[in-house]
Amino acid sequence: MITVSSLLDGPWYERYKRISKLNIRSSIYDVTNRCNLRCTGCFFFSSGEHLVAQEEMDVEAWKAFVDREKERGVNLAILVGGEPTLHMDRVAAFYDRLPTYCATNGLIKVPRDRFPDMMVGISLWGDSATEERLRGKDVFSRSLENYRGDPYTYFLYTITPQQLGRTEPIVQRIADAGLKVHMQLLSNDEDADGYGWSPDQLAQVREEMDALLLRYPDTVISSRYYHKVLTSGEMMGRRFGWQECPSVTEALDDRDPQPRRLIRFTRWASDLRSVHRCCTSATRDCSTCKDGAAHMSWIMVNKRAHIRTTQDLQNWIEVYEMFAKLYRFIPW
Ligand code: SF4
Ligand code: SF4
Repeated sequence: MITVSSLLDGPWYERYKRISKLNIRSSIYDVTNRCNLRCTGCFFFSSGEHLVAQEEMDVEAWKAFVDREKERGVNLAILVGGEPTLHMDRVAAFYDRLPTYCATNGLIKVPRDRFPDMMVGISLWGDSATEERLRGKDVFSRSLENYRGDPYTYFLYTITPQQLGRTEPIVQRIADAGLKVHMQLLSNDEDADGYGWSPDQLAQVREEMDALLLRYPDTVISSRYYHKVLTSGEMMGRRFGWQECPSVTEALDDRDPQPRRLIRFTRWASDLRSVHRCCTSATRDCSTCKDGAAHMSWIMVNKRAHIRTTQDLQNWIEVYEMFAKLYRFIPW
């Protein structure tokens, strides 16, 4: 019988043991329906998710809610929005109770005296010119200055087809600022011209991401296997999509048969009662979804399928480590 220990040598087995203890149980929370930007391609606004629920305004209700989430077994709160930093009191309600990750556009700096080790993920859409076009201003330069040298911050770089051949200077700027970067691909939720991926472009972006990982190993938090699965939409001969996606809210998950999924995962709206279908947009076409976290989780929940060859299992370990680093369960 093939077992984990039969496939791994000593150092790899130690790495496996370190992550297998983590038992991460995440859920996602809309902290607010408001944002200080309106980016082209933002699924939150384009799919009307900001209209689903009225924000809970009482911070005591947020605190009680987080306590209930903790009792539900959540050990990682992923804060999104809208822009969570518009409501630091709500962010604090999570941070004081649970390991917390805050997604932000980086315009408002999270005060480090209040949140010394909260992981911050800054959304990035491209170089300064691209950000001006898609987000209305050069958000990158501002966020880079706000977080320069911060050990608990990384950029979540959403690559669009227009960025092909232009990614390296961006990663270089991030490296120069002493920060990290993780990459995913834009899913075109708005049917905007030129933002869909052709097979050739997907092959090209995979090569580009592999090259960046090789050249900037201390800056890029990623893995070649993740690049392969994300760009191909395939894993172990299976195709990513609705029937395979692990990041579907438990209460809305009526799939039959049930795929392997994130245990008890829920994406909560800002009234703390309503839920959204999944970690991204309810109107998104699952067959073209390129959400990075959903693909990462897809790999992670399918450990058993990777206990096949040494290479398969090492690929799985690297992806799990990448996730654990991005959410501060293990150091960079
Ligand atoms: S900063 Fe984020 S939430 Fe705000 S509009 Fe842009 S993508 Fe949407
Ligand atoms: S849009 Fe993406 S994340 Fe959402 S259910 Fe579909 S495949 Fe999963």
